[in-house]
Amino acid sequence: MKLYEQYPVSLTNSLSGKKEKFETLAPGFVGMYVCGPTVYNYVHLGNARTFLSFDIISRYLRSLGYKVRYVRNITDVGHLESDADEGEDKIGKKARLEQLEPMEIVKRYTEDFHTVMRHFNILPPSIEPSATGHIVEQINITKKLIELGLAYEVNGSVYFDVKKYNQSNHYGILSGRNIEDLMESGRDLDSQDEKREKIDFALWKKASPQHIMQWPSPWGEGFPGWHIECTVMSTKYLGETFDIHGGGMDLKFPHHECEIAQATGANGKSPVRYWIHSNMLTVNGQKMSKSLGNSFLPSELFSGSHPLLTRGYSPMTVRFFMLQSHYSSTLDFSNEALNAAEKGFKKLNNALTLIKSLEHPRKTSTINSEFEKNLPGQIDKCFQNMSDDFNTAKTLAVLFEMASQINIWTSQKESLAQVNEETFENYKSTYISMMEEVLGLKEEANHNNDLLDGAVNVLIGLRKKARTDKNFALSDKIRDDLKGIGIQLKDGKDGEMSYEIEK
Ligand code: AMP
Ligand code: ZN
Repeated sequence: MKLYEQYPVSLTNSLSGKKEKFETLAPGFVGMYVCGPTVYNYVHLGNARTFLSFDIISRYLRSLGYKVRYVRNITDVGHLESDADEGEDKIGKKARLEQLEPMEIVKRYTEDFHTVMRHFNILPPSIEPSATGHIVEQINITKKLIELGLAYEVNGSVYFDVKKYNQSNHYGILSGRNIEDLMESGRDLDSQDEKREKIDFALWKKASPQHIMQWPSPWGEGFPGWHIECTVMSTKYLGETFDIHGGGMDLKFPHHECEIAQATGANGKSPVRYWIHSNMLTVNGQKMSKSLGNSFLPSELFSGSHPLLTRGYSPMTVRFFMLQSHYSSTLDFSNEALNAAEKGFKKLNNALTLIKSLEHPRKTSTINSEFEKNLPGQIDKCFQNMSDDFNTAKTLAVLFEMASQINIWTSQKESLAQVNEETFENYKSTYISMMEEVLGLKEEANHNNDLLDGAVNVLIGLRKKARTDKNFALSDKIRDDLKGIGIQLKDGKDGEMSYEIEK
């Protein structure tokens, strides 16, 4: 029996708004597409949260035995300043401001994106296609939509005819809107005179002579619209219908709504079986975003060099911090939450180090029946929680229980003999794989033991001297201050002192 049959996954499908049983199109295979970054600037921590959410989903599906083809694109053309087809191309604008080639901008920020992904241990996708690499396909589907009567050309630009599409489909199916309300509420825009209706969106835009990125097309020199690239790249690599499409909540409308309309219009079938939307990272309740000025770079978080931060945090502490909440909830950033996450991660990390070197004694004493019941139960709970809409928060709670058990075995070695060897080996491999493979929480060096030993021993020496001098105030201060940072001094017989790190 495959693990995905033993622990069937259910997930919240944004299309229905309900939790549904996950059934793949082809048994054992998963096709997943996630909208990638627009590479015109450094990625901030909010962006990283979205890619982390989908990293967890692809990791977990793989660990259940699915073969996952994960496609995450790079948007290197077509994303305009406003989602409503207005303003300059984000990459073109940056190139103009910095007097660089657009592809220099794309390279610089794609590299930054990859570096950030590596820091957070977010695995690369199976395919990472770029919009500029698929211009021909974008032109072809635009031609097809014109032939089908679902798009029209005006003055070298091509727009999708939403009203026409809506005659036989529902535009707004994903975001729960209807076309009448949308037609009422939309803003009047500069390019309004070209569009038949303000809700129509661009598939292809005519380029002015000074526009840097442009390609020849049946409608003259131009560049593709933003939404069409994702339709082309997802269906090219995953088929006209595929299993999962993901992205941040803010992409649901208009981007994903337009993707559904384009693909359904062109191929006559709904492109995606399960839509998953991850929620935003917020700062004081506001979405983290560059334009609001409340964003910071992962590198600033690691070094603590941003005014919003009191100090720096390790990448795995930040990863742990994000996994403490469900991907569909907002997550508010704060120094307090990160301090707490650091403590939490340390506990799990210590247990990870410990269990890696823990060996079963091979001989068993009297088997403890409680252990035999509880330990497999904890293993099951890890999988059940992850299979229940990828609930990392609940899974971490089980890992804490497991970490306590690991600490007991470490300090009372004889208790390990009360567990069957097979039960122990399963427990050990589940803890390690849940931490490292599924949650991607890499083991971080606990501390440099030799250096720590040396430093604490210097303080112990000073404390002994203070005692001999009857300077009890100083002796107590050394003990209390060390305790404050989690190091407990123990007074032994004949004045000897040792220390222990509080777990
Ligand atoms: P962009 O490069 O602007 O297209 O954004 C890349 C991804 O980051 C998209 O999937 C966005 O939904 C996501 N994103 C942007 N801001 C945040 C945020 N504050 N929290 C979580 N995800 C975000
Ligand atoms: Zn997209």
